[in-house]
Parts: sequence; C-alpha cells; structure tokens
Amino acid sequence: MSSGGKEAQAVELARFFFDLVRRESCGECLPCALGTRQVGVALEGKGAEGTLLREIGRAMKQSSKCGVGRIGGALVLELLERYPAIFKAGA
Ligand code: SF4
Repeated sequence: MSSGGKEAQAVELARFFFDLVRRESCGECLPCALGTRQVGVALEGKGAEGTLLREIGRAMKQSSKCGVGRIGGALVLELLERYPAIFKAGA
C-alpha cells in the first residue's frame, strides 16, 4: 500500500473519531462545546486558520471538563501536527 493510501486511511479514521467526540459533546463547558463546533466546520472542508485551530485544540485539551473534550483537543493538535492539509478549504 502506498503512503498516500495510509495517510488517507489515517485521515478518515481521525475524522471518524472527531465525529464521535462531536456527537458525545454535551455542551456543558465552553472549550468543548465551541471547539468541537469550530473544528467540525473546519473538517467539513470550509477551511480555518492553523493558529486558531491550534489555540482551540489547546483550550479543549487543557480546559475541558471531561475526557471527551480533552481527547478531542489532543486529536486536533495531533492532526495539525501530522496532517495539516485536512483543515484546508476543499480538502
Ligand atoms: S468536555 Fe465533557 S462536560 Fe465539557 S462539553 Fe464536552 S462532554 Fe460536556
């Protein structure tokens, strides 16, 4: 399998996990409630600025009330590090 194939699979898996986080977010705390919404929009291919997404990921990871938001934040930071193109408009 080509590395492009592996990357596409990794990105698909990451989208799947982030979608789970988004569905599980109960909306009780702002970092997770707002972060999952904004990152979700970016993952739909509408684009977002990397620095802003990094701040959102950090806020989710450090300030979310429970593991759902913290894991979601860690996932955002990992995606930015490994597959930044996933957040580009039209990706
Ligand atoms: S981090 Fe937990 S408490 Fe906060 S909105 Fe997400 S699911 Fe709810």
